[in-house]
Amino acid sequence: MSCCDRIMPRDEEERLAQERGFESFLPFLADATEIAICAHTSPDGDALGSQLALAELVARRWPAAHVTTLLADNQAAPHIYSFLPGFDGLVRPEDYTATPDLFVAVDLSDTHRLNEAQAICERSRHAIVIDHHPTQHPFGDQAVVRPEAAAAGVIVAEFAQFLGVDITSTMAQNLLCAIITDTGRFQYQNSNGEAFKVASLLVDCGANPSEISLNVYQSFGLAFLHLKSLVLGRITTFERGRIAYSYATQSDFARTGANLDECDGLIDVVRSVEGSEVALFLKAVPGGKVRGNLRSKGCWDVSQVAKAVGGGGHRAAAGFTWEGDIDEALVAVLPLLRTMLSEDPAKTKGDDCS
Ligand code: 5GP
Ligand code: MN
Repeated sequence: MSCCDRIMPRDEEERLAQERGFESFLPFLADATEIAICAHTSPDGDALGSQLALAELVARRWPAAHVTTLLADNQAAPHIYSFLPGFDGLVRPEDYTATPDLFVAVDLSDTHRLNEAQAICERSRHAIVIDHHPTQHPFGDQAVVRPEAAAAGVIVAEFAQFLGVDITSTMAQNLLCAIITDTGRFQYQNSNGEAFKVASLLVDCGANPSEISLNVYQSFGLAFLHLKSLVLGRITTFERGRIAYSYATQSDFARTGANLDECDGLIDVVRSVEGSEVALFLKAVPGGKVRGNLRSKGCWDVSQVAKAVGGGGHRAAAGFTWEGDIDEALVAVLPLLRTMLSEDPAKTKGDDCS
């Protein structure tokens, strides 16, 4: 099995910056005995796949270190990802008492997204960051933050190559899951040549795409499908169909018995409306809050809208948490989307999304 094809950013400057970043990680990793690797709150396939693969990579390259894969939240990670190699070893922040020499943050650039693990990051001697979210203020002693990468998993795969460590089949499976989920099965705007190239390499290294698909996209419980039908039934459009939104209330969850963490894919149902350019999905979460997902199909930058209500993310995929109920969140967010769509019609289907 050949895992030696070079994978790297296509842009020379980006490639050099990434290599300098990787280089700068080395002393921190080499000097650390206790290492905690953590991804963002409400982890998705990229968060979990990247952190699990990175933990295996670090353990192979620095076998003397004690590596913990840490969750950001004091609750179990979504069950649909339980097939990922290493999933059972994930540790909740409340169960982690050590003081890490090194905290490695993956798939996040904002310390707030560490949720309950933030205190562990703060007590760590050092921190490094591997991420692909645009940020003005990367934290940590060193960071590789490359928004052009389709997934954090792309960067982790390139870090393995940089280190000269073979990508095992278990690392490959975690990383392929990261890329498949963050590109929406290679359907979103971030599905660039690099993502396909890394994915191809990962399959050569033993990743199994059909196992990922079976677990993440073809194993829904009936309760979830019933919730999905409610969400489908109330999709509403605005601005002559350019904005599509839907939501799931607390009573929907109670009625159907669906789990909150099963809802990741519902925004894709909303964005599938013909002619819609931006999509919003809201779900009621415990504590009187609402989680919002925003997606853009053209060049609209929905991360600006997410930021305006305290969230963040990428141009085409962003999210936020609203303190209040669904009606209030709609009243706040729909006008922002409307204003954005009135700004520059050239962005509707333009190619220049920079
Ligand atoms: P999702 O809508 O799937 O939760 O998130 C879409 C993208 O936006 C992901 O890359 C995610 O990391 C980012 N994102 C989601 N919610 C937040 C948030 O509250 N703050 C920030 N900074 N980013 C978010
Ligand atoms: Mn990601």
